[in-house]
Amino acid sequence: MKNRESEFLKVEEGRFSTGTFVLLLLIAYSFAVAVRYLWIHWAGTHPEFLWHGQVMINTNDGYYWAEGARDILAGHHQPHDLSPVEAPLAILTAWLARVLPFSFETIILWMPALFGSLLVVPMMLIGRVLRLDWVGFLAAMLAGIVWSYYNRTMAGYYDTDMLTIVLPTFVLYGMIKAVVSQKNRYMILTAFMMLFYTWWYPAAEPLNTAFAAIVLIYTLIFDRKNPYLYKLLLFMLVALLPLGWMVDGGLATGLYLFFHFGKQKADRLIFPLLLIAAAAFVGMGGLDPIWFQIRGYLFRESVAGGTGTSDLHFYAVSKTVREAGKIPFEIFADRISGDPVLFVLSLIGYLLFALRYPVMWLALPMMGLGFLAMKGGLRFTVYAVPPMALGMGYATVWFSQRLAGVLAGERWQGQRVARFLSLLILAAVLYPNIRHISDYKVPTVFSKPEVEVLDRLKKIAQREDYVLAWWDYGYPIRYYSDVKTLIDGGKHSGDVNFPVSFALTRPQLASARMARLDTEYTEQAYTTQKSGSYLAMMMRDYNLTDPEEFLIALGQPIFKLPSRSRNVYYYLPYRMMGIYPTIEFFSRLDLKTGTPSRQSTFYQINRFARKGNLIIFGQDAFVDLKSGTVTSGKKHLPLSLIAVTQYDANGKLHKKIKRYPGKEGLYLIDMRDYHKILLLDERAYRSAYVQLFVLENNDPDLFEPVILTPMAKVYRLKK
Ligand code: MG
Repeated sequence: MKNRESEFLKVEEGRFSTGTFVLLLLIAYSFAVAVRYLWIHWAGTHPEFLWHGQVMINTNDGYYWAEGARDILAGHHQPHDLSPVEAPLAILTAWLARVLPFSFETIILWMPALFGSLLVVPMMLIGRVLRLDWVGFLAAMLAGIVWSYYNRTMAGYYDTDMLTIVLPTFVLYGMIKAVVSQKNRYMILTAFMMLFYTWWYPAAEPLNTAFAAIVLIYTLIFDRKNPYLYKLLLFMLVALLPLGWMVDGGLATGLYLFFHFGKQKADRLIFPLLLIAAAAFVGMGGLDPIWFQIRGYLFRESVAGGTGTSDLHFYAVSKTVREAGKIPFEIFADRISGDPVLFVLSLIGYLLFALRYPVMWLALPMMGLGFLAMKGGLRFTVYAVPPMALGMGYATVWFSQRLAGVLAGERWQGQRVARFLSLLILAAVLYPNIRHISDYKVPTVFSKPEVEVLDRLKKIAQREDYVLAWWDYGYPIRYYSDVKTLIDGGKHSGDVNFPVSFALTRPQLASARMARLDTEYTEQAYTTQKSGSYLAMMMRDYNLTDPEEFLIALGQPIFKLPSRSRNVYYYLPYRMMGIYPTIEFFSRLDLKTGTPSRQSTFYQINRFARKGNLIIFGQDAFVDLKSGTVTSGKKHLPLSLIAVTQYDANGKLHKKIKRYPGKEGLYLIDMRDYHKILLLDERAYRSAYVQLFVLENNDPDLFEPVILTPMAKVYRLKK
């Protein structure tokens, strides 16, 4: 019975010569890189995606690491500018930029493609350990370009993601190789891969811990009398100790030498050492990060962060983060395998594989983390890619060998036929993924005209100056203009977003004061011990306890500002218009209770037709410019004002404003060059963003225009 079972699961093993193996590895690697080049090629045909003659990156966070690398190369950065000069990715990038003859832009564009494609290496090595080189090759071809893996390691996706799957797959390889070979040197390899992974990506701890747990479970089920496996566990626990990679690495090396030279005598100490390591691991809080993760992702605490210690209630950002939602099965399956049918086949393949080679169960933590995506959000799917691709590789070889057996008569005589069939299947498996890649035409983070504005600002602003802008633009602003920002892709909790949201959506006087206060308090907070949000600090210093009272005081003629330590610039891009309502959310709420208040009316209409005095939006929605009425179905609303804006040949903005006397209603702005109509209420119309960006209506006492272009405008705060 047992025999027949394993006969059913079995595939013909096969190991190529080193030369052939390396050749296949190069093929898989080149394939993954070549597929990634498609995006660069496409983007290169769009001049607005180019800067310094090179395609720009397409992930916002990339500018964070780029800032760190730039500062490492420059040899200096400013205190509290949040530049990640100690981050591994920034260090690696700076080093590559020093030794390679390519431009910095070229390096950050290509790094994710070249490093991300390295996934094929541990994939093929895993196949080779089990004498299944062909399975490894097929799996590597797939894993390197599979949907979610591609999305997170495509060219220009310059982020730590480029190695966050490669490294745990190397850990998996280390474990499998160690278990199969039972050699001490692969235990040390596993430990060092774990350390490398943690160094690169601090959030690696839970997965590394799960790897150790699965080794323990594997040992207890399949081979509990084998001391070698406990030794492996010991090395893994040492690598998990929260003592930094140097101490852990030193300990692991010491242990390796001890076992290597101590031979059987040393082996007698495996269990005592294991107990000590386990106690140290738990004692040093090794299990805490797991609790933290589970709490964060599974229970999704709605009051997450940003409330500080004050009594103020800010808007919790987690509410707007799309990734943290549940996802339907089909999307989940597409991300992991490229297609729901392939997903199911991969899963079956993985089960066959693990039943035949139980060491494959060691990949379960990656499967588990990937499947957590069903609850925790899309970002996790990518972890299941390597084991599922191995499953697909196994299923492909299993099936094609059997089919070849039928076609070629004798079961194992059909090796060549089987190879050929498996390549056909591979092509079918790759197809949906390649199609996804060719459809996935993401733009660069910023367009060339926007970067030109930031580049000009770099020559005007000092490195200690602050730029006020929504957090989405924080990292790119810091990278291109070499300034400081108030909020960014990492610093954007409700409390820090509040003042910026306020400054963008309130009238100019209140806006200017909040911008000055926020800048001075942001800088102060780095050096003083004051607690709570910046707003709470401000209120304490102004002796006010009611936030409403404080915010109203900001808009009054008499208000004493702190002394100014530096310049503050507003960066107002056209692209911010689309997210104006979201930005406003963060400051339109009752800070005492956290209850949202009424949002401003902010409609943008991009599709409309003009007909005489009418602007027609839809079947029964139109504006009559003559009488000044907006009609929507049976509702009629008066217009207070219409403003028409238009740039002349020199890029200067001209506006015509017509008021409808005695009428209180909506404000219509006809942005001719943008083919856009704005319908606003008075609050939105008076906001700093609309006045400064849309109308260039700056209060000369408060704001000085610095750079004015249709795509982005920069003003300097005068007070
Ligand atoms: Mg700096």
